[in-house]
Amino acid sequence: MQRVIKLRNWFAQSRKNRILFLAVIGCMAGIGAGYLYFHNPLKYPLPCLFHVITGLYCPGCGAGRASYNILHGNFLTAFCYNPVMVFLLPFLGIYFVTVAADWALTGKNHVDKKINPKILIGILVFLLIFGVIRNLPFYPFRLLVPGGLAEVLM
Ligand SMILES: [Zn+2]
Repeated sequence: MQRVIKLRNWFAQSRKNRILFLAVIGCMAGIGAGYLYFHNPLKYPLPCLFHVITGLYCPGCGAGRASYNILHGNFLTAFCYNPVMVFLLPFLGIYFVTVAADWALTGKNHVDKKINPKILIGILVFLLIFGVIRNLPFYPFRLLVPGGLAEVLM
């Protein structure tokens, strides 16, 4: 607990400390993206625990393959693997960059207070519905399995 307080004080001390911390996080994200860029999930799949246990697709299934294809500029292929992720990723990126910039400059999070909770609940409900309908075994829902949209889009 004392370490958390020390860390909080270290961040509160100066903008420079917060920017340094975000630079470290950015480097770690870059290393993760670099790993994913060279780690083809078609050859070396990243298994989904939910899919392994249940045999069903979760809302995130296909996200690794979609991310790999986004990093290689293949947005349509990425969309075929996980359309919801490809749609939500820019908004998530804008959110994280905005929160990080706000925190780096002010030391506080003013962004979350401006987001209507109904939007977050709506996204959660949408993800749950997507997770259910992508497991329905008949047309057109069977197109929502990872890679299924390639049948009609490619
Ligand atoms: Zn999954």
